[in-house]
Amino acid sequence: MNATSTGPAPAAGPGRSRTGGAASPQKTERRFSGFAAAAGVAIGTVFRAVEPEIPVTQSRIAAADIAAEGARLEAAIVQSRKQLTKLRNRLAILPEESQAEIAPLIEAYQRMIGPSRLVRGIKRRVEETLLSAESAVMAEAESIAATIQAQAEPGMNPEDRASLNRRAEEVREIGRRLVRNLTRTPFRSFAGLPDGAILISESLRPADAALLDPSRLAGVATDEGGADGHTAVMLRALGVPSVLGAAGLAHAARPGDTVVIDGISGTVTLHPGADTLASARRAVAAFARERQRYARLRRLPAETTDGEAVDLQANFELPVELPLIAQSGAHGIGLLRTEFLFMNRDTVPDEDQQTETYRGIVEAMNGDPVTIRVLDWGGEKDIEALSNAGLVPDISDVNPAMGLRGLRLLLRRPELFETQLAAILRAAAYGPVRVLLPMVTTVNEVRAARDIYDRVARRLRRRSERLPEKPPPLGIMIETPGAALSADALALEADFFAIGTNDLTAHTLAVDRGESDVAEMYNPLHPAVLRLIQFATEAALRMRMPVSLCGEMAGDPKVTPLLLGLGLRAFSMNASAVPRVKQAVRAVDSDACVRFARRAMEAGEPARIAEMLAAFPGQGA
Ligand code: PEP
Ligand code: MG
Repeated sequence: MNATSTGPAPAAGPGRSRTGGAASPQKTERRFSGFAAAAGVAIGTVFRAVEPEIPVTQSRIAAADIAAEGARLEAAIVQSRKQLTKLRNRLAILPEESQAEIAPLIEAYQRMIGPSRLVRGIKRRVEETLLSAESAVMAEAESIAATIQAQAEPGMNPEDRASLNRRAEEVREIGRRLVRNLTRTPFRSFAGLPDGAILISESLRPADAALLDPSRLAGVATDEGGADGHTAVMLRALGVPSVLGAAGLAHAARPGDTVVIDGISGTVTLHPGADTLASARRAVAAFARERQRYARLRRLPAETTDGEAVDLQANFELPVELPLIAQSGAHGIGLLRTEFLFMNRDTVPDEDQQTETYRGIVEAMNGDPVTIRVLDWGGEKDIEALSNAGLVPDISDVNPAMGLRGLRLLLRRPELFETQLAAILRAAAYGPVRVLLPMVTTVNEVRAARDIYDRVARRLRRRSERLPEKPPPLGIMIETPGAALSADALALEADFFAIGTNDLTAHTLAVDRGESDVAEMYNPLHPAVLRLIQFATEAALRMRMPVSLCGEMAGDPKVTPLLLGLGLRAFSMNASAVPRVKQAVRAVDSDACVRFARRAMEAGEPARIAEMLAAFPGQGA
């Protein structure tokens, strides 16, 4: 989604900022639209995420490996081509003058990895001098860039000289892209991030977001991504105002430019004028007031006007969130995503390392329950340590959303699964814990997982480990249509359900969570998704089995009356959403919610349901 324009100030609203920032009178204000990923308004200066130095040593291959090296190179070229085509396609939604600025650059990159001198030269170096593909790319790109720069003559006019330098830099840049794809090196160097900076980059992986220091960063904006992918989930966890999917922004923003990020309306304003800055500052103040108001709710019970108690818990992605969770008034952690433990490291953490981490979190929660989900690899959650250990398929070879992921992967890699279960069981000696299985689709998977769980518990007992008296409950995520529609059968195998509406929405509607091009079609209010939630909830309630909802929609107070009306009484969400949802719970009567849900479930389209929710009494309270 995108549009650029000069324009009026962004809509005032709640927001926050850590830095001031001066208007840039000499530059024209430019507005980019994207997806509001994490609420708040930030004013700051642009910091460009530079790509990390790629350590390419001159490495050589054996003559017998020439064909394999050629195939690696071809795969990297194909991947680079796909990335550039995607960028090129997304430009179509920009105004013409922005397209005219960015498109030629991308086309130049595309030409360079077509049947070009660069590609021929790289192949020759691999075949004739037995250089590894990445060494050959760097050597050939540098040689061509140096030849271009050597065309500069004494007395040449500065414009022509700058044009030669630019062309040389373009060759080096496409070389870096190829090497990044060959070495699977992500975009992520946040070294030197000044306090209060706004990070702007073409794309940001969840693992990159996990490296950000929220105490130093004022905001984040990227060209790629949607509001429902894991990068957005991470950014919400960090509490950093963020806009994703603002196409064209990364090419337009220069380090040091002043920028306003509005993570509520999903807009980014480069070179804000005085009016925009004044409005953004008002939004920051309004957000601070709203937080104070919410802080007063912390000690009040989460119950409806007719006294129905509702359990509000927090989702956890990163340890930096613990203080936020404590302040939010959440009653424990309803979804601890353990992927963070495996990210940004070369090796898989062992049982003792994992035990220490889980134990630390369980103890920090001081007797409040913690639901620990075992590793959910797959989809966009690529994790290098797992690839290095050969434990997961190459994410570029498979359809990662539908391949070997979540519980399926763990059942195939029992060493990974058993180590994690052992660590969770040991941590459970220090406070109430539940174990949650991701991406379940069949009853047999749950049975197989339970067998392994029981076996690990027996083994730990034989080792005389300190364990809780009773093994923690073993529950399952309901996040595929298959699981939701088998909920009655699954309820006989599982101890609790956690409905994951993020993946449930993606899989039901066939819409990628993190894909900007289809992000507007991603809607958990689609009647098909709501019916699956209803079906799974009713199956659990019939069995008197605990059921909660932990997808991002749990944190949207506008939807609370509908979810209560469907019978749900437990929600887990980003910690910052807990007070807002508590306020929504305290404003409604449970019978009115049931009547409302009945009517809403008859509506055929998401927009109508959203309208009905907006009109529900108590909204906007
Ligand atoms: C979900 O899919 O709704 C969920 C909570 O899991 P995750 O966002 O980690 O995939
Ligand atoms: Mg999920």
